Amino acid sequence: MIPYSRQSINQNDIDEVVKVLQSSHLTQGKEVKLFEDAICEYIGCRYAVTFNSATSALLASYSAAGIGEGDEVITSPVSFVATSNMFVNLGAKPLWCDIKLDGNIDERFIERLVTSKTKAIVPVDFAGKPVEIKKINEIAKKHDLLVIQDSSHAFGSAIGEKKVGTFSDMTIFSFHAIKPLTTGEGGCVVTDNEEFAAHLRLFRSHGIVKKQLWTSDMVMLGHNFRMTEFAAALGRSQLSRIDEFIGRRNEIAEYYDERFQGHKLFTTVKLDKNTRSSRHLYPIILSLALQCPKEDIFTQLQERGLGVQVHYKPIYQNSFYKKRFGEVNLQVSDDFYRSELSIPCHQEMSMEDAAFVADTFLEIVEKYGYRGCSF
Ligand SMILES: *Cc1c(COP(=O)(O)O)cnc(C)c1O
Repeated sequence: MIPYSRQSINQNDIDEVVKVLQSSHLTQGKEVKLFEDAICEYIGCRYAVTFNSATSALLASYSAAGIGEGDEVITSPVSFVATSNMFVNLGAKPLWCDIKLDGNIDERFIERLVTSKTKAIVPVDFAGKPVEIKKINEIAKKHDLLVIQDSSHAFGSAIGEKKVGTFSDMTIFSFHAIKPLTTGEGGCVVTDNEEFAAHLRLFRSHGIVKKQLWTSDMVMLGHNFRMTEFAAALGRSQLSRIDEFIGRRNEIAEYYDERFQGHKLFTTVKLDKNTRSSRHLYPIILSLALQCPKEDIFTQLQERGLGVQVHYKPIYQNSFYKKRFGEVNLQVSDDFYRSELSIPCHQEMSMEDAAFVADTFLEIVEKYGYRGCSF
């Protein structure tokens, strides 16, 4: 099976992890700081605060933003549940904004959702394609809202010369095993705001400030969301190859773009000029005619060795959210879920693998194509 995404581990990654395992500090040594400094240098931001997952990083950034009971957050429903879960955890309410056909929040619909209770906008760079951050920032500025970008898919994505992570108040990256860069489990928040960075660090480690010798003071409620030293060492080693990973993913994605161009049964996502995507996913948007047999297509692709997946069930369709916030229907988001399919695209694939994926995919969808939804 060729999975839709997977990690690349080389000897240097292994050596760096082993070195830490043989050292005096498995946690709270120098590796986390070194990794954070390397992230800042790569992204071009002032502060990077690592966590044991992007989910923890999201919770920490919502807390730093002061999001709490009774507040509202405007966000995309087409994301992993953690994007909404973590501010709901703090007592806030999601205001879901519909998306565009590329899977990113539709910035034209954001402003009409703003109320006096709205605290933040949380867009998600779906599949690694940067959101329309300039427009989103303008809306946020006008209404005095924070922008917290869930860029879990988008480490290394860029608009012009500037990396994702330099555009919003706080940006979250995931280092889960199959994200563009991995520490096994892990995540981080990047920001240029010193106060946010200080809050994030306290939140990560019990809210404790160290004083002299043995004295310390707990100044706020915190958690233990720290990254281990060996995870950070793996991350720093991975970071030295991130542009290679993204380059490879783009080679494969561009090959697919060419093979699939103008196809009548499905569309693919186009990137804006002058932007770079990490290509965490390669989403296919099936035509209406293929929505009915999607289950069969999915099963057959899997049987033929393509580890396809669907991203994502709109968060509001989950039973927890229906019970808590009632029924929500957003046309494009619902439709996207019916038509989206992510096909394998990652740095461990050869061009032969990519050709095999494209051939197999075309063969199967064309077998189902043109029959419509009536059979
Ligand atoms: C993966 C992911 C997360 C959660 O990341 P973890 O590191 O697994 O906690 C959050 N949001 C999005 C959009 C993701 O894809």
